[in-house]
Amino acid sequence: MLTPKFDNLVKQLRVLPGVGQKSAQRMALHLLTQKRVQGMALAGALDEAMREIIECERCHSFSDEAICPICQDPRREDNLLCVVETAADVMAIEQSGGYRGRYFVLGGHLSPIDGIGVDELNIDQLISRLKAEQIDELILATGTTVEGQTTAQFISQAAANHVVKITRLAQGVPVGGELEYLDSMTLNQAMSNRAKL
Ligand SMILES: [Zn+2]
Repeated sequence: MLTPKFDNLVKQLRVLPGVGQKSAQRMALHLLTQKRVQGMALAGALDEAMREIIECERCHSFSDEAICPICQDPRREDNLLCVVETAADVMAIEQSGGYRGRYFVLGGHLSPIDGIGVDELNIDQLISRLKAEQIDELILATGTTVEGQTTAQFISQAAANHVVKITRLAQGVPVGGELEYLDSMTLNQAMSNRAKL
């Protein structure tokens, strides 16, 4: 509209969720007219993040190195493992502040309709980890959607021979809800009130 380079910037900004043509144009104009330096910093941060943030080898959350800071942290409890669908769920639980164990990110939930079966998730890696490590409690913190429940059920059966106590987040998590949208207090409560499966 203004120039080909401007149009391209607008087009790229529209990749962001919830950003339509109008807001993308407003963002581009804002950066160009008032925030050039910050715009450069933003471009640098994006470039670095897209190139260098990888999946943690142990928990499959995001990491700058092979092993992420949470997996490396010696103060966290090794015998407590919380299984979540995505890295966004790890962030949500961390922000609730009530959990001191380790995590394992599945990479989604079972959804045959979308072609996501056991092989598409990190379930084999999870079972290997349960075999190799002394985990006293496995907390299944997948979503309360039908798919999240099915996934928890599947893992609960697959893990039954390798861990004594398997629990599920309890009260406070609305049915049909995704963890990342819960407020910290609700999530904290759900974590402390988890139920044995
Ligand atoms: Zn990790």
